[in-house]
Amino acid sequence: MTDTRRALPSIGALLERAPVRALLDTAPRALVVDAVRATVAQARESATAPADDEAWAAAIVQRLAELSRPSLRRVINATGIVLHTNLGRAPLADAAIDAIAAIAAGYSNLELDLAQGARGSRYVHCASLLRELTGAEDALVVNNCAAALVLALNTVADGRDALLSRGELVEIGGSFRVHEIMAKSGARLREVGATNRTHLADYERAIGPDTGVLLKVHRSNFAVHGFTAEATVRDLAPLASAHGLPILHDLGSGLLVSLEAIGLRGEPTAREALDAGATIVVMSGDKLLGGPQAGLMAGRREAVEAARRHPLARALRMDKLSLAALEATLALYRDPPRALREIPTLALLAATPESLRRRAGELTVTLRRAGIACDTVDSTGSVGAGAFPDAELPGAAVALHGDAEGWSARLRAGSPAVVGRVHDGRMHLDLRAVLDSELTDLAQTVVAARG
Ligand SMILES: *Cc1c(COP(=O)(O)O)cnc(C)c1O
Repeated sequence: MTDTRRALPSIGALLERAPVRALLDTAPRALVVDAVRATVAQARESATAPADDEAWAAAIVQRLAELSRPSLRRVINATGIVLHTNLGRAPLADAAIDAIAAIAAGYSNLELDLAQGARGSRYVHCASLLRELTGAEDALVVNNCAAALVLALNTVADGRDALLSRGELVEIGGSFRVHEIMAKSGARLREVGATNRTHLADYERAIGPDTGVLLKVHRSNFAVHGFTAEATVRDLAPLASAHGLPILHDLGSGLLVSLEAIGLRGEPTAREALDAGATIVVMSGDKLLGGPQAGLMAGRREAVEAARRHPLARALRMDKLSLAALEATLALYRDPPRALREIPTLALLAATPESLRRRAGELTVTLRRAGIACDTVDSTGSVGAGAFPDAELPGAAVALHGDAEGWSARLRAGSPAVVGRVHDGRMHLDLRAVLDSELTDLAQTVVAARG
């Protein structure tokens, strides 16, 4: 680089030079022009310019690559958090990916009743599977759980009070705060009890002519310990029924099968929540369920039917690709051992510390062979996305020696990008949420990111 501020070539002149002109064979002209312009601007700003045509072309090629790169890119999740909301939550099962591909490539019976040859409803596609898997009388799928909650609240309690324990007035992450969502739903929040203790009597005292619903919200991302009390749905059911009030239970993550077999206990399945007396349960499709982004609503016939007919349902409806993925994911749950094997979220959660240590050991060997100093270390992963907040998942990581922040930045710039975790001043690549199919790419990105 030389200081050539006064002698920077013009955009037009650069576009005429052979190595730059050659770029027009493979990239759209407008993009090449943008890359040239950005490269010249960068040279002007930094007061240094590429020395010759080749160097200009190289700088422009790099700019072009940056400009052509999609905004939404693949990331290898080496954070140890299985359901990472910032990283897109659940990776999909092969069956779900195949279903998306089949439906995406052509037309489908999204809203056509093939048997009758008449107009159909998109809402039928996952409803019977959900009824089968939860025991609910009826079910409805919308865009995400927040949408399902708004729709359910507006359906049962528009303009009326929704009673909610102060201990369940939670913020889930991003900007999802239950009371703010509720304000938009048209229901009026009426807080009952105290942060640590809420009793049945607190609800009983608060019920009046304006009460529309008893709301229960799962404490997704925190746990309350110590001097605590809670009125469960089972406790509330007789009270609700005596006053003719519905119970709406936001389960958040939403389990279709118990995960006790893989050591995760304490959260109810959708079936258990409904059996306990909830009128409607809502849950996410892309948390523990391991499917696409979706909001699942299941419960009593009249309540779900009213939600389905609600004008808001149209605004919150699910798209066909997500419906295809959700139906295929739900179908796997008909055979729970198969679900545990084939739904990546569940398989990642089920991985044993021994298997993770073995994979971390293998990655350490590969990286050392490439001259990268690193060690295999024990680490603790978590479920993430507001599910089993207390659960610690013992596993293993590869700790890279050297400047952790430098590693972190270079790995994030990789292709695919790798997002790890800085722990005790070291860059850790936790194997808990790394899929088998990603191990080769992970090693390659680390080698390419060597400082
Ligand atoms: C995550 C969560 C939601 C929001 O779910 P989305 O599918 O992200 O909209 C709502 N309620 C609870 C309790 C949650 O944990």
